[in-house]
This record gives sequence, C-alpha cells and structure tokens, in this order.
Amino acid sequence: MPIQPLIDAATAAETMADVKPPLAAQEARVEASRCLFCFDAPCIMACPTGIDVPTFIRKITTDNVVGAARTILEANVLGASCARVCPTQMLCEGACVMLDLEKDPIQIGRLQRFATDHVAANRIDVLTAPQIKDAGRVAVLGAGPAGLGCAAELARLGYAVTVYDRKPAGGGLNTYGIAVYKMRPEVSLDEVRMIERLGVEFRYGVEVGRDVQCADLARDCDAIFIGIGLGGANRLGIPGEDLPEVVDALEFIDWIHTRPLEQVPVGRRVAVLGCGNTAIDAVTQAKRLGAEEATIIYRRGPAEMSAYAFEYDLAKMDGATFLFDTMPVEVLAADGHVSALRLARTVVRDGRVEVVPGSEWTQPCDLVLKAVGQEKQVRLLERLFPGLKLDRQGRVEHDPATMRTSLSTVFVGGDAANGGREVVNAVAEGKKAARGIHAMLTGKAVTGPVQPSRHGTADGATGSGFNHPIRVHELEAALTKG
Ligand code: SF4
Repeated sequence: MPIQPLIDAATAAETMADVKPPLAAQEARVEASRCLFCFDAPCIMACPTGIDVPTFIRKITTDNVVGAARTILEANVLGASCARVCPTQMLCEGACVMLDLEKDPIQIGRLQRFATDHVAANRIDVLTAPQIKDAGRVAVLGAGPAGLGCAAELARLGYAVTVYDRKPAGGGLNTYGIAVYKMRPEVSLDEVRMIERLGVEFRYGVEVGRDVQCADLARDCDAIFIGIGLGGANRLGIPGEDLPEVVDALEFIDWIHTRPLEQVPVGRRVAVLGCGNTAIDAVTQAKRLGAEEATIIYRRGPAEMSAYAFEYDLAKMDGATFLFDTMPVEVLAADGHVSALRLARTVVRDGRVEVVPGSEWTQPCDLVLKAVGQEKQVRLLERLFPGLKLDRQGRVEHDPATMRTSLSTVFVGGDAANGGREVVNAVAEGKKAARGIHAMLTGKAVTGPVQPSRHGTADGATGSGFNHPIRVHELEAALTKG
C-alpha cells in the first residue's frame, strides 16, 4: 500500500510543538541572574563562533535585550537558529562552571533564543552594513549556514555578495532539514531576510555549472566561496532499495518542512536505517506524525552510535524502538510497495561489520528511511573546480586559518570542508572564510570572535597552509581550460 498522512492538523500542531518552549521575560531574567560572569569564561571557548556568553547574559539581567541580541548576532549571524539546534550540552552548557559546582548549567541556548527572538519579533535590525558595496565582489555557492555566515560577514565588510542556491529559498539544512519540534523553518527564513537587509543578493533555483558557470563567476568576482552541502544519502546496495517507499531521511524531513503537517505521508510501520542525529530526527517525527511503530536499525552497538545521548533519550521517550547489531539485507515488496525488511544480526570482527549466518528474519514495515550518511559532492566539485585539491575523504583541502583552498581565490566552509559537522561550525567557517577573503584582497586582518578551527584537512592534519600569491585570474584560467 502507498503510504498516507496519518494525523489531522490539530494533532500535528500539538505533537510537533517546541520541545524546549521559549523562556518568558521573568524566567529569562531569573536564569540570567544565576550566571557567575566568569573571567576567561569556558562557555565562550566552547562556542565555535566565540559568542561572548557572559556579556550577553549580563545584558539580559539589566533588561538590555536588544544589546544582548547584538552581542550574539555580531559573533554568530545565525544565533537564532543555533539557539535551537546547537548541541549546547556538548558545547557552551557542557563547559559551564556551574557543572563543577554540581549545579545545573546556565541555560545558555534558551537565553540566546530569548534575546534573538526579541529582536526578530520586534523587527529590530541590530547588525549594520555599508550601503555602498565597493570593497569587491564575491560569489557564494550555497545559501546554507556556511554560505550565510560568509555572506553576512562580507556584506558587513562592504563587499557586493551574490549567493546562489538551487533550492527555492535560503537557509539550507536550517530551513529544510531540522526536526520541526526543534525549529520551525520560519526562524531560518527570517535569518535569511535579515542577511538580505545587509545588502546580500540571493539567486534561488540556480544550479552552478548548469545555469551559472564558475568560469564566469571567477571572471566577474574577486573570490568564490564554496558553501555547498553534502549530496543524497549513501546507497544501501541491497535488493529493493529503489522501491518508492525507500526514502532519504533528509527528504522525509524536507516533506515536513514544505507541506502542511497533516499532508505528510508516513508509514504505519517505519524503519529508520542508521543511528546518527538525522536518524533520530526522522524516527521521532515519524512517531509524532502518527506512525504506530518506528524502529531505528543500526548495524553496530549503542556505544558506537553517533547520535547524542540526549537525542537518543528523546527518541525513546517518543516511543521509538532500537534494534542494534542488525542490518537490512533486502527490502521486500507487495504490489510494488514496501511491505517488509529482511534483517540479519551482525557481529563486528576486526572493526568490520559481518552478518551472522542463518540469523535472518523478516520484519513488516511500509516506509524505510535511509539515514546512513550522505555522499560527498566529489564529482560536482571536480567538475566545477578543476584542480581543486580534495583529501581522501572527499573534503576540500584548505588552510584552517583562512579557509582558503588550493585555488587561490576560492575559499570553502561547512560540509564541503569538514565532511559534515554542526550548523554552528559551518557558520564559524563561513565567517572565517569571509575574513580570509578580506585579508587576501586588502592585506588587512579582521579581529573579533571566531574560534580557531579544530578541524584540519586530510587525515586530521591541521591544514595545508597554502601560501598563495594573489592571482585572481589563476582560477579563471584553470576553469576555462577545464
Ligand atoms: Fe556564566 Fe556558565 Fe559561562 Fe560562567 S561558564 S560565564 S556561569 S554561562
């Protein structure tokens, strides 16, 4: 049977409501007043964008909420998204000294949301940019978090920036790929509009390499920033994989963002393959959209899953079940539609996952969501940028201090550089690349919060340290030749 929507609009609104509701003003003031305003605060160091946490929290205690938002957004232009999607337990809140005092950490994420929501709700622009963009011209490929981080910083430095994206709207993962109970796409779209007001031009529905040629961008611009994300889900390589109800988990999440919730089709029995944070987002949303059974199937044990512990706990609370040390060997069909998965037990030998002979069984299901990692865009990058150096994992090699690639006027950030990390890492890398571009073109450094990259290039090395002379036309020549 084809899958159908299972719940009505009222139920969907209830089940997809915020998991962390916003703080009221009085609650925010009380929470902010718990902060010790530490000198050399570890929460700042733990934030990849280096937000001055004690300063913004102190501003909340004095009712200067606009000032608090300015402190946040000057460091991280996607502060509203990051307040919702950052794994704060692993970052700022995980570093909070209150934990050493055996107290609850300050709720930095919720305070950040309180401040950024205030300026968004009241349409207050706290960031400014020169109206005349005469510093130079930059093309940004991809309107996801890395591209937005780069574009906003460049606009504030006086550059004319055009962002190209094949989707009909900006925001990337924040708009299309985050569980709705964590963040509504409107929050991300609001951030895009704020960046538009800084003077950044967005061109949507444009595929670079098809509608716009890199050689033309290289000729017309002083620099190009690569902020393209990852590709589709990795293939399973099993029979039945191409059945219509075998869907990329991110595509399923995209349906949730682009259709009324009561019109999103979902199976009664859903199997999610993989156990990272996307798998958790998919399984919990399937459950909240009415699935009777939603099961995570993972070929290794719980200790090896990449999902954060708090995400795992959330999925269990939502009624998801977990099958560890199990993998699919075939997707079975009835009348052309998914009807079951053939599963087998697994064992890990010398680091390799092997099927236990004779352990197979059949589990009924009608929707299979693939969350087994996404493909790197190796072929696309090689086609767009002949000569661009990639490492063995398909990431673009770069200097971690400037995000400059092996092509002297091309910079990179986000998934293409780091292979897929958090939204906040992408924003930080985009901003760092903007400063790298500015330094390349002017010889002047920009200071202010952005943490040093803890991510290197090939095999975890700390970077190639490309030392380029400024040759703006080198790329143009390479692309024309390619
Ligand atoms: Fe406040 Fe915790 Fe940061 Fe100290 S570490 S400044 S208590 S949020």
